[in-house]
Amino acid sequence: MAKYVFVTGGVVSALGKGIASASLGNLLKARGLKVVLQKFDPYLNVDPGTMSPFQHGEVFVLDDGAECDLDLGHYERFTDTNLAQIHNLTCGRVYETILAKERKGEYLGRTVQVIPHVTDEIKRRILLPAQSDPTVDVVITEIGGTVGDIESLPFLEAIRQFRLESEPEDSASLHLTLVPYIAAAGEIKTKPTQHSVRELRSIGIQPDFLMCRTSQPIGEEARRKIALFCNLPYANVIDGRDVASIYEVPLTMHEQDFDRLLCKRLGLVTPEPDLTEWRRMVGLILNPPDRVRIAIVGKYIELKDAYKSISEAFIHAGIPNHAGVDQVWIDSESLEAPDVGDARLREIFAGCHGILVPGGFGDRGIPGKVNAIRFAREQGIPFLGICLGLQCAMIEIGRDVVGLERAGSAEFDPGTPHPVIHLMEKQKGIVNLGGTMRLGAYPCQIASDTLAHRCYGRAEISERHRHRYEVNNDYRDVFTRAGVVFSGTSPDGQLVEIMELPGHPFFIAVQFHPELKSRPRRPHPLFRAFVAAALGHRDVASGQTHEKAAG
Ligand code: GLN
Repeated sequence: MAKYVFVTGGVVSALGKGIASASLGNLLKARGLKVVLQKFDPYLNVDPGTMSPFQHGEVFVLDDGAECDLDLGHYERFTDTNLAQIHNLTCGRVYETILAKERKGEYLGRTVQVIPHVTDEIKRRILLPAQSDPTVDVVITEIGGTVGDIESLPFLEAIRQFRLESEPEDSASLHLTLVPYIAAAGEIKTKPTQHSVRELRSIGIQPDFLMCRTSQPIGEEARRKIALFCNLPYANVIDGRDVASIYEVPLTMHEQDFDRLLCKRLGLVTPEPDLTEWRRMVGLILNPPDRVRIAIVGKYIELKDAYKSISEAFIHAGIPNHAGVDQVWIDSESLEAPDVGDARLREIFAGCHGILVPGGFGDRGIPGKVNAIRFAREQGIPFLGICLGLQCAMIEIGRDVVGLERAGSAEFDPGTPHPVIHLMEKQKGIVNLGGTMRLGAYPCQIASDTLAHRCYGRAEISERHRHRYEVNNDYRDVFTRAGVVFSGTSPDGQLVEIMELPGHPFFIAVQFHPELKSRPRRPHPLFRAFVAAALGHRDVASGQTHEKAAG
């Protein structure tokens, strides 16, 4: 039987439960265990796909098309494992399942209630990952939200019941809290942690481990106090101090023996992990021999979580290039032509050696993205366009190179005389907006002798998607004649997946989201090549030569 670890959080939100869970997964995997992570979110949306990135950060997409919480991105990156829809549950989905059963008459004669019906459904979902893959040794389940929220109560109650109904060594509970540093008093405070654990215990869950997030080292005295008041062994209080890179977290946990203690608690006999490679990688992330600066022109830039996977993909891509990537976030609305001309763009992009235009929805910020792409194209600055970034590149090249006046996308310019981007055939007639985009992994065929082929080093790839609009095939010929190469398409040739401009040092745009498949140990080939191109561009611009590690 698999073992279960439940991760909860208290005091405040945004403590990094996702990264703590992912780091634990990383360590257990390094100890030779097969680990799977799942996230339970207490909100009532069936999935986060219908939420604004400002509300919820990035919507992460899995191979099977699940639109899910961005923590699943951390899980995949830290454990290098592909997850699926079953690994993200929301309260909305729990209710959706129960209400569908109720309408079918499956509860006939009974009152449907939170206990037992909702909690039973949650318990069924706790078990599902290991049931669908019997080789799984450990299931780590992270509960979104903060202990004390009304919304998370059914989840915590289900965990309490689960623990009561199984053997003590079958599961462990990890609770994350905040240990704030009060500058005026010059000391850290343990009271919020004590209160949070009291709250959790009042629900019937005694944590086995505490991870105390803190900006200052906790120190022995405070740790003893926490252990005593929270009713757990001293060694099980983990110092979760702030670190410079999230990829350090597994190392700081391991230094404190956390993985060994957890395995002991669960009755798992495993060898010590070999973290040499991970340590080397973290060393390069923290102290890169070189640096390069890349501009990201987006519209959700106030909330960095909205582009989480892109930020991580750049960190990964820096590793083989032996360079740290400084990400410069530029609000696309601040780049709108004609007010912003080349002289101003030169100032704005000064010191940036690559420009990325990420995905997005709606018309806000489009003119600025188009202007940035034109600048990158004309100035020979390496460019990577992602999803909406490809669509904007089609608009820009359509207008300025092909000569299609007011070329546009049907998404935000329905009256355009030249809809170079239009609604996909399969999207026509769709009225429900939740979960109905073109979602998940699809194969793509890459033409030989193209930049895309040089980046990937092969002809067949699979990438994850999340879009409704696509390149209008009626315009492919005129674009091709104007010098654009549609270097990647769906295997039947019908959908454009990659476009590029051969005369340019590095100009490539993709309809999919490469960032979703980048892993620290396996940086994505497009990001890796883009960073290498940015380093090359910097060196050409400054007249140096650079030894490229990528390629
Ligand atoms: N809004 C565009 C579409 O739906 C692009 C989506 C995206 O960038 N993820 O096709």
